[in-house]
Amino acid sequence: MPSDMDISPARFEQQLRWLSRWRRVVPLTETLSLRSRKRDVAITFDDGFRDNLTVALPLLEKFDVPMTLFVAAGFLDQDGYLSEEELREISRHPLITIGSHGFWHRHFNRLTPDDARFELIESRRLLEEVTGKKVELMAWPFGECNQELERLCAECGYQAAWSVWKGTNTQYSRWRVPLGRRDHMMRFVAKASGVYELTEARLHRYQNRREQPLSPRESGQTVLAS
Ligand SMILES: [Zn+2]
Repeated sequence: MPSDMDISPARFEQQLRWLSRWRRVVPLTETLSLRSRKRDVAITFDDGFRDNLTVALPLLEKFDVPMTLFVAAGFLDQDGYLSEEELREISRHPLITIGSHGFWHRHFNRLTPDDARFELIESRRLLEEVTGKKVELMAWPFGECNQELERLCAECGYQAAWSVWKGTNTQYSRWRVPLGRRDHMMRFVAKASGVYELTEARLHRYQNRREQPLSPRESGQTVLAS
């Protein structure tokens, strides 16, 4: 990829090997529960790229760990993205949960309430139509959200949503730890161990508090996003 958001298959395999040995990789919704344990980790991928099926899935099968794919519904069948048929296929896999990533991957903070509602409702409608399954989870494109959008997401019937550092870190903007090309194994282990949470996340939390005086709910789990 042009940015450094990608991870090589070899590195991803290394990371999965580490996670399956030292962590409990759980389905994403389990990290919402207060009973969830500190060693719990969930894996998510955003956008709906085709290599989620061709590269990531075989590796997940190898280590038997689940992941959630947040799919930008409007990108289906475009070059490099999952086709409708491929999405249907991958959604039937027992290790896979499909969530929405909006329709056109837009900056939600810049949308009118009507456009935001369209993105939330129509993306889910299309994903449900293609997969034949209920879509109840959502990830904000660019991680962008705010209290109003979080309320709207709840109103539109979603069970929960995830961001990356933005929002209130509550049910509709749970924070994730982003991973990318620069994450060598040591950095990865720090990110998956909560060490990162002590530094990077604290900085973001501080910045967010300055922007909006809210007290985010602390969470013991880590959600790793690619
Ligand atoms: Zn995205």
